[in-house]
Amino acid sequence: MKFIVVAGGVLSGLGKGVITSSIGLLLKECGYKITVIKVDPYLNVDAGTMNPFEHGEVFVLDDGTEVDLDLGNYERFLDINLTSEHNITTGKVYQSVIQKERKGEYLGKTVQIIPHIMNEIISRFEEVSRNTGAEITLIELGGTVGDIESMPFLEAVRELRNKHGKKNVLVIHSTLVPVLGVVGEQKTKPTQHSVKELMRVGIQPDIIMCRSKHRLSDNVKRKISLFCNIKEEEVFSVYDVEQVHQVPLLFEEENVSTIIQKKLKLNPQTPDLTEWEVYVRRLTEPQKEVKIALVGKYTGLKDSYISHLKALTHSSSELDTNCIMKWVSSEDLERDDKRGEKAWNILKNVQGILIPGGFGIRGIEGKIAAVEYARNNKVPFLGICLGFEMAVIEYSRNQVGLEDANGTEFDQSTPHPVIDLLPEQLKEDRMGATMRRGAHRILINKDSRAYDIYGTEEILERHRHRYEVNPDYISRIQGENLIFSGKSPDGRRMEILELKDHPFFFGCQFHPEFRSKPQRPAPIFLEFLRSALQHNFHVSR
Ligand code: GLN
Repeated sequence: MKFIVVAGGVLSGLGKGVITSSIGLLLKECGYKITVIKVDPYLNVDAGTMNPFEHGEVFVLDDGTEVDLDLGNYERFLDINLTSEHNITTGKVYQSVIQKERKGEYLGKTVQIIPHIMNEIISRFEEVSRNTGAEITLIELGGTVGDIESMPFLEAVRELRNKHGKKNVLVIHSTLVPVLGVVGEQKTKPTQHSVKELMRVGIQPDIIMCRSKHRLSDNVKRKISLFCNIKEEEVFSVYDVEQVHQVPLLFEEENVSTIIQKKLKLNPQTPDLTEWEVYVRRLTEPQKEVKIALVGKYTGLKDSYISHLKALTHSSSELDTNCIMKWVSSEDLERDDKRGEKAWNILKNVQGILIPGGFGIRGIEGKIAAVEYARNNKVPFLGICLGFEMAVIEYSRNQVGLEDANGTEFDQSTPHPVIDLLPEQLKEDRMGATMRRGAHRILINKDSRAYDIYGTEEILERHRHRYEVNPDYISRIQGENLIFSGKSPDGRRMEILELKDHPFFFGCQFHPEFRSKPQRPAPIFLEFLRSALQHNFHVSR
């Protein structure tokens, strides 16, 4: 059992997730069996109840667990599918310790942070390693060293290291080396302080990864090595690159995988990055370009839609294309002032319109107007989950003649509730982990474009929703033009809709973006982008 712990210092948001994923990729390409754990020190049991605007997208695993977006990064970089055990939160740890205490499992002992919470954390780390059979388990510690919340986890890492030995538990510390404007000098003091903070809890890092704007100078590396008590070759420079996918290549230039293997007392192998290099080259030197609008509510924080963006990136690499994102706030589309005009102008100049998942009434009418525009002007359209529901509502209102049709999430008293609560939601009064989540099978009608796209009659896709197409309306909505070409195996739930008289108009209740991978893009995203490339927006306007 070998572990690599990545802990961050100085500030949050330094890209620890990308560092962890990139190390994972290198080791995987060296031939090791790798797995990853994300530790989130917050008290929420899972990320499902968190606002994407505050915390970025909620990612969904095959087993339905709602997790931090970093798990999406691991799945994509390492081409693996993770489960609930791979996300450890303070909420989960305390919940299970308290449950055990209530059951009397601690046999009358006083239940305490040390040893009980520590043991719970350590055994969770070990269990993942054991259950997956991984040779190396990467553990990314969320939060920043020095935070009260992170303390128990750092203590657990210290104990894990004592238990398994230094050669089996490697600690990588990621920090920031800022440059001060006037002098232009790379400053090492924040790194020095952060390492001291780590040493205060008894952990001397093995490797320091410094985030910086430009490559670290030799002098700066030397200084960090001297003050932080590690060799110069164990200080790495993680400077800004255009695409996060370049980070593994950057690491390899600096021999990261060799040093890590040496420190773990493994016989150093060289990673085979040929395929990854091709993928990155296509991304950094694209031959074509396409403009796609994302019409959403959380356009102020791009991380809210990270999996959608990644799915587009996977497809654009495949098509040798630069995908230029245009962000359109759906609320702006509802306005008839200058701001509204600006938003519509953007929408009218793209080759494809994507409406992602979302919740709540804000901006709904703007999204419906965007669907109408895409449908009438034959602009390639992809609606995901909420976007799919928007397409159903728009079509019901404007093509089926169901005046004021709506979803009951947005209007409880609509005369035509074409989108309604899933029946099993009626008895639910809790918010956490109660949606229809995770991977479910979908059967595809052979006589459809969806079948051409997927090339199979059955797919498995992840979900996260409370509402669906109201079964009472299906026969009225479906017809010559609109077909529901994908359904749940019992035929009850509508999963894919497509229009026959349109170059590309698709909606899906599921989230294809969650299973899209580099070199294996989600088929529906790929086809969306391919159609967008063929779209000539000057004609349609
Ligand atoms: N709010 C919608 C529902 O719950 C859509 C959810 C989503 O887009 N993930 O069904």
